[in-house]
Amino acid sequence: MRFMNRLRDEIARFMYGRNGVDQLVWATIAAELALNLIGVFVRSAALYHLLHVVCWALMGLAIYRMLSRNLARRRAENERFLRWWRPRRDAVAGARERRADRAHKYVRCSCGAYCRVPRGVGKVELTCPKCGKKKIVKT
Ligand SMILES: [Zn+2]
Repeated sequence: MRFMNRLRDEIARFMYGRNGVDQLVWATIAAELALNLIGVFVRSAALYHLLHVVCWALMGLAIYRMLSRNLARRRAENERFLRWWRPRRDAVAGARERRADRAHKYVRCSCGAYCRVPRGVGKVELTCPKCGKKKIVKT
């Protein structure tokens, strides 16, 4: 027990002032694992070795970012990644929610907005709340 406490303190001291694990590190590890899994099914030796090299590079990148002391740059990189990642994650979550909602029908407007109408009320004229365009939809 004392040994474990000491080890934890040593690790905490070592990691002090370092970037640690942020979302981009997790994403890098996830990408590395995904490529590793793909590698299992690859038949071409050249492609397999390429994947192997890329996996090692990603692992190295993840470890480098975790141990880096240049916090400003690592945070800027993570922020850039999150600006790219969040809209995609939210789009997937939104699509899942719309699919799970059996009580409504979702109509995509030409402006990109989703308009929600209750199911089973027959033909309705829908006015897009975003651009004001009207559309007749069957529910
Ligand atoms: Zn619209």
